[in-house]
Amino acid sequence: MPLYVFNWEKGMMSMTIRPFILDGNEVAANIKALVEGDVKKLIAGGIIPCLATILVGDDPASATYVRMKANACKRLGIQSVRIELPGETTTEQLIREIQQLNENPGVHGILLQHPVPHHIDERAAFDAISIEKDVDGVTTQGFAQNAFGFAAFPSCTPAAIIAILDHYRLPVLGKHAVVIGRSPILGKPVSAMLLNKDATVTTCHSKTVNLEEFVRAADIVVAAVGKPRFVKGDWVKPGAVVLDAGYNPGNIGDVDYEACLPHVSAITPVPAGVGPVTIATLLKHTVAAAMKAQGY
Ligand code: NAP
Repeated sequence: MPLYVFNWEKGMMSMTIRPFILDGNEVAANIKALVEGDVKKLIAGGIIPCLATILVGDDPASATYVRMKANACKRLGIQSVRIELPGETTTEQLIREIQQLNENPGVHGILLQHPVPHHIDERAAFDAISIEKDVDGVTTQGFAQNAFGFAAFPSCTPAAIIAILDHYRLPVLGKHAVVIGRSPILGKPVSAMLLNKDATVTTCHSKTVNLEEFVRAADIVVAAVGKPRFVKGDWVKPGAVVLDAGYNPGNIGDVDYEACLPHVSAITPVPAGVGPVTIATLLKHTVAAAMKAQGY
């Protein structure tokens, strides 16, 4: 949002941009407050909503994400079951574990932590999750429903990005959104969601030529690259809205936050931007899956 300030050097009023920091903790708290009532209703009826997380191998970053999700569940009264499998687990063994969770009526949501070790067929494993328990929108069916705009549970990070835009009433209709990244859990679904909200969407990836030029034309930039400080300050159009989904070691986003700050109208920080909203969305989906299983 523009702000007029007195420029002492030029001796006149001039327009500058006051960046608005999109507070992920505020959005997450709002989502959790809306979910709390349903958790109480379920518990009063003798049902504890339950999220099962599956971690394959010993990637420390993945272990941290799973722990953060389990702690967030606990704080909201949601049970979390943590399944840790050795790095040598085969695709068949992993699918058998998932099938057992599908058949367990006490489990309402299943989250297979991405990435799994390379020898595992991740797509086959994701697709083994039943659609009713696919609270992170990772199945082919969930992805397709999301593309059509009627998914019960879209992928949590894309849904978090949309929740931030909605919470702060940032206009999307008719805007040019540039998404950097096309992974099935982030870049592609968020591109589809922005398109469904009537943005004009460009999805960039590692083979995109002159990527900076696309970013320079964007009203909304979504960074989902997995490279620290990838988006540079001088790539960003004055007044653009920047959403940084990146989460690299050392709490560093995919956007060069400090360099972009003078140019943007609004931006998510890292940490405390997209991350907490992603976790709140996962809890919301788990509770919604439990409510649906009880016939609410
Ligand atoms: P990913 O599966 O590794 O995908 C990265 C995407 O970025 C790919 O589409 C890749 O293009 C593209 N890319 C890589 N290098 C590029 C370059 N030089 N120029 C343009 N595009 C490039 O990663 P992801 O799972 O989508 O995650 C992306 C980021 O989000 C990571 O920082 C991750 O930690 C973070 N993340 C955050 C949350 C959260 O809760 N905040 C959740 C999930 C992920 P190609 O397809 O051509 O290879």
